[in-house]
Amino acid sequence: PVSEVSTLWQPIAILLGLIVIAMFFIVVVVQTDLQRPLRRLDRAVAALARDEYDVPVPRLANDEIGRLASSFEEMRRQLRATVTGAQARAVIASELNSPQPLERALAAVCAQLRTSSGADTAFILVNGSEMTDSFAVIEGKELDVDVATLLGGEGPIGCAHRHAGPDALLVGAASDSPEARTGLHEFCTAPLRMGRNVLGVLGIARVEGDFTGSDASLVSSSAEQVALSLERYRFIAMMQRQASTDDLTGLYNHRFLIDYLGQQLALAERLNTPLAILVIDLDHFKRVNDTYGHPVGDAVLSGFAQTLVGSIRRADLAARYGGEEFIVVMSNTAAVDARRVAEKIRAAAEALQVPIDGGRNSVSVSVSVGGAAYPEDTTTATELLATADAALYDAKHGGRNRVCMAGERAGMEGSTNVTSVIRPRRSAQ
Ligand code: GH3
Ligand code: MG
Ligand code: MG
Repeated sequence: PVSEVSTLWQPIAILLGLIVIAMFFIVVVVQTDLQRPLRRLDRAVAALARDEYDVPVPRLANDEIGRLASSFEEMRRQLRATVTGAQARAVIASELNSPQPLERALAAVCAQLRTSSGADTAFILVNGSEMTDSFAVIEGKELDVDVATLLGGEGPIGCAHRHAGPDALLVGAASDSPEARTGLHEFCTAPLRMGRNVLGVLGIARVEGDFTGSDASLVSSSAEQVALSLERYRFIAMMQRQASTDDLTGLYNHRFLIDYLGQQLALAERLNTPLAILVIDLDHFKRVNDTYGHPVGDAVLSGFAQTLVGSIRRADLAARYGGEEFIVVMSNTAAVDARRVAEKIRAAAEALQVPIDGGRNSVSVSVSVGGAAYPEDTTTATELLATADAALYDAKHGGRNRVCMAGERAGMEGSTNVTSVIRPRRSAQ
């Protein structure tokens, strides 16, 4: 009977054993299947907690855990956009506030915009004004189109330029727009607005792929900051310009001239190049004031200033030294060439007719010019001015309406022959 019982229990025991083993396997499989995604999710969420927003939360099966993972992934993307945007805004603010040339600051802003948005290009286009011509700062793929054409056109940049609101525009470039011809198709642009004035347009662009709401918000807040900076730079430039120019003639003033001459002379020394200056004084100008009155005298001074600017090269600098005395600084110019310019100025002044009495009559003047050059005549700014002034004195004493260069003075010492004063040094040798 005992063996009968044991043979009856044997299959039951095997069955039970199999059930226990199967259950064990089920538990192990379920555990690992459930735990693995949970562990991955846990790792991703822990990374978020450590402010690491670049690692995506893994995509999991389409169950509760999978949906939880997708929600975390969406949250990560939003957080990442917010954090990147905040970092970009901080970098842009610090670039715009650091003491550096405007174009360098704008280039840094574009570089930052491009990095944080992943755009193919970032650009700032600035309108021309009384202070500067229009210009563009571009990082990445070039926009090889004239700035004024883009700002005035019908494409995404022109749209932003005319856009009344403070927000950025997400615009695709129509195939016939100048923007599309550059190969860029998706644009996110905002006007650089200062009150009612639009100073230009800031934007980012892609060959393909849409921009998001956070790109738009970064573009519009950057446009605000850039507009403020442009206005500040413009204000400073205007103040500097006002402080360095003469109100009556619009030429540079005495103070600016002294600084400029010092800088140019230092440069000439370093580069081993010549530099010449001319001192120009209106002849018998007191008589003009006495005969026609001070306002006519003023008109003659500004008329001569225009003539003077028209007689020199763009690279030369003309300044009103004081009263009816003017100075021209010519870098990279030797005395012999400076004399030619001086003669041109003298002839132009002689030909000048300043209209008076509403154009019925005119006043004419003449000028005397004294010139000196570095290094032929002297080596310091003060001496250069004094030497040119002494040459001017000789020109006055030689009869006025003439040119005298410092090098010619040595040759005329003891001489009373006026013609030797105006003869170029080379032909006198
Ligand atoms: P010279 O040929 O020797 O240079 O004779 P000049 O009469 O030109 O020289 P002088 O130094 O005797 O007189 C300069 C005159 O320039 C006197 C001054 O009233 C006048 N002047 C100086 N600044 C101005 C100005 O801003 N406007 C006007 N209208 N006159 C000025
Ligand atoms: Mg004079
Ligand atoms: Mg004078």
